[in-house]
Amino acid sequence: MLDLKSPNTAASDLGFIPRQLIGGQLVDSPTSFPVIDPSTGEAFARCPDATVAQLEEAIALARAAQPAWATVPVAERIVRVGHFADRLVEHKEAIARLITMEQGKPFAASLGEVQRAADSMREICTIPIDNEVLREDERGRVQLRYRPLGIIAAIAPWNVPIALAAPKIASALYTGNAVIVKPSSMTPLSTLLMAKVTQDILPAGIYSVLAGGGKLGQLMTEHPGIDKVNFTGSIPTGKRVMQAAATTMKRVTLELGGNDAAIILDDADVAEIAPKLFAAAFGLAGQVCMAIKRLYVHESLYEPMIAAMTDLANNAHLGNGFEEGVQYGPVQNKGQFDEVMALIAETRELPGVRITAGGHALDRPGYFIAPTIVADIVEGTRLVDDEPFGPILPILSYKSVDEAVERANNSLFGLGGSVWTSDLNRGAEVAARLEAGFTWVNHHVGTTRDLPFGGLKESGMGRNGGAIGVKSDMEAQVIVVPQA
Ligand code: NDP
Repeated sequence: MLDLKSPNTAASDLGFIPRQLIGGQLVDSPTSFPVIDPSTGEAFARCPDATVAQLEEAIALARAAQPAWATVPVAERIVRVGHFADRLVEHKEAIARLITMEQGKPFAASLGEVQRAADSMREICTIPIDNEVLREDERGRVQLRYRPLGIIAAIAPWNVPIALAAPKIASALYTGNAVIVKPSSMTPLSTLLMAKVTQDILPAGIYSVLAGGGKLGQLMTEHPGIDKVNFTGSIPTGKRVMQAAATTMKRVTLELGGNDAAIILDDADVAEIAPKLFAAAFGLAGQVCMAIKRLYVHESLYEPMIAAMTDLANNAHLGNGFEEGVQYGPVQNKGQFDEVMALIAETRELPGVRITAGGHALDRPGYFIAPTIVADIVEGTRLVDDEPFGPILPILSYKSVDEAVERANNSLFGLGGSVWTSDLNRGAEVAARLEAGFTWVNHHVGTTRDLPFGGLKESGMGRNGGAIGVKSDMEAQVIVVPQA
């Protein structure tokens, strides 16, 4: 255990001293807060807590530096983003180690996250952002020009700290903006290590990283010196971001929670798809925005599916992310652990409901919950209607495809969805009927950032990635020039 009285005692154990990155310099903050290892429930390090003055400084330096960055040719900006991605890969093990320490996920998943982050940065830079000619005739020439917004705040959650921050950073930089990154105060250290290893790649002020709790995120969304907030997190916080952004008419991209339905058609092969469904529901202990959170199974396959998922749940290997062969880690924090346990207790009281696997915490330190399968449950319950964001999955039976689609769509959420079938054309037709921003056939979870990702309804606003996402970091300007 480290000496938690000193702000930087973590240095020897973490392999670096966590510091803010402001104006190209790594700097301390006067106070710090503890970071918890969710596999023990104990604090293992401290993180500097950015001050309001440090936020002001980062914004002022970004404003001073951004106009010059906007004139750097796009090809050169792509080179810099590529260097950034290279550094992530170069320091993959060290960053991944910190992700597992502070987030809890298996080390292999953390390595995959850092690689995915690097890949996503390169994917963003393949998206064309050239100016367009809208019209050229006897009336003259009309050009559509894309110009950077200025300063973008990139605010990330605690489930996937690096792979959610990296594409926001890439998109902002590629399009000529400056970016200020704020990781979740639950998982700030991996992002601060990323800041350290990428410190020298960009002109000072163009890229800053501020870790902190309290009101830091809110101050960023309210600040008139920031032009856009690119936020990933929960729906309630997303609504607060949107409200605060309105005062200065900031642009927002909001990637929020999901309650994704997977619909299993009557021609699906249960034995073949069950492991894929299980992984898509319970990966990262269910703490994935686009995880399967409702499983709609045709009545003819219902009992075999429950049996297969129950078997997988009973044989899942949970543990500390550094243990050999671990598939699933803990829930990331005590608050989330308590919420999921309360949801399990509430679900257990529902008449007729069967909990066929799990339903309890593991008898060990940390925030481990056994993968929990719930059958014979219906809509109108919190488990089905809300996003649990933990290792618990309701399995629902349906009779007709129309009924399944209607029930899947009867939700305030609209992030992802999937259809599972042996007939791909049929699958694509049903997937198109789902009210969700991203849909799959015979797959669920995972995307690349050359594709736009985001939600319908309360699952968000705007997209990250793809042309829609990248261009939302820019402002469209029309230039009308009459014929000479
Ligand atoms: P939160 O909304 O609690 O926090 C997200 C980030 O916002 C954190 O960095 C947090 O900082 C910051 N924040 C808190 N309050 C404000 C504020 N008023 N203004 C601006 N920023 C603020 O989400 P969680 O971290 O709990 O993440 C879990 C949620 O994120 C789930 O609902 C999940 O579905 C969603 N999510 C969505 C994804 C998507 O792509 N759609 C992907 C991943 C997660 P601090 O930590 O200091 O409070």
